[in-house]
Amino acid sequence: LDLQAEDLQMIKELGAGNGGSVDKVLHAPTKTIMAKKNIHVETQPQVKKQILRELQVLHDCDSPYIVSFYGAFLNHGEICMCMEYMDIGSLDSIYRKKGPIDVEIVGKITYNVLSGLIYLYDNHRIIHRDIKPSNILLNSAGQIKICDFGVSGVLINSIASTFVGTNAYMSPERIQGGPYSVKSDVWSVGITVMELALGRFPFPPDGKQLAILELLNYIVNEPAPTLPEGMYPEDLSQFITACLLKNPDQRPTPAQLLESPFVARCQMAPVDLKQWAELVSRK
Ligand code: ATP
Ligand code: MG
Repeated sequence: LDLQAEDLQMIKELGAGNGGSVDKVLHAPTKTIMAKKNIHVETQPQVKKQILRELQVLHDCDSPYIVSFYGAFLNHGEICMCMEYMDIGSLDSIYRKKGPIDVEIVGKITYNVLSGLIYLYDNHRIIHRDIKPSNILLNSAGQIKICDFGVSGVLINSIASTFVGTNAYMSPERIQGGPYSVKSDVWSVGITVMELALGRFPFPPDGKQLAILELLNYIVNEPAPTLPEGMYPEDLSQFITACLLKNPDQRPTPAQLLESPFVARCQMAPVDLKQWAELVSRK
């Protein structure tokens, strides 16, 4: 599939983050609805071409837990990436509309996210680097898929050199400039799972708003957050405690987390993501 800007008709804007915006578009020749992400990077044209080459790896990513990729191109200096459109959207917008997500649904979501991380690492040696509710998407088939992972080293570096490269889901070792490993993604999974179950971002525990630098300082120096006592199942609290160990060497791997009592129990639970998708898409 040779994607060209001229073949894409704008339907509507889906949202905008720090690094760019995402539009719902129609690829007219194939009648395919796509999500087009527009990324603005301040670099030389040659560097942008290098990024496009590196993004081609996405064509080889094929998993039910990963948003599929149609192609990328340059348009007026912006990098445009076309991906599978997920019609219900991201988990942050879902919990903001519907409130905290039921624990057993959170467990099933967690299973999908961990499976996506394992797929990326085992098959492509890709570390996600940006796990958070806005990068976990749901469609009306009840599929949960992850997007916006770090495939292009050059793109990662061009973003890292801006302030946009820092976010509140980063592990303490990342905030301190340490090396990135799958264990840093595990920290972000812990924060994300907590956020979905609580219906709010878990830092700081008292819910006060902190400026970003204070927040990063808090994450590095204060104890990791925990769920309120007595309100959540013990296996979920233990899952979160394990993900949020400050020492990355002590954190479990995604494969170990898949076997955790919390995830294993929720996999058996008689709730399904398809029904949940129907429920949340109701007005
Ligand atoms: P950040 O820029 O900090 O990573 P973000 O993830 O919210 O934040 P974007 O990645 O630009 O920012 O995405 C903007 C919004 O577009 C997301 O919140 C999500 O709701 C929506 N979106 C992104 N990709 C898709 C997709 N493939 N299908 C449907 N909606 C999507
Ligand atoms: Mg995103």
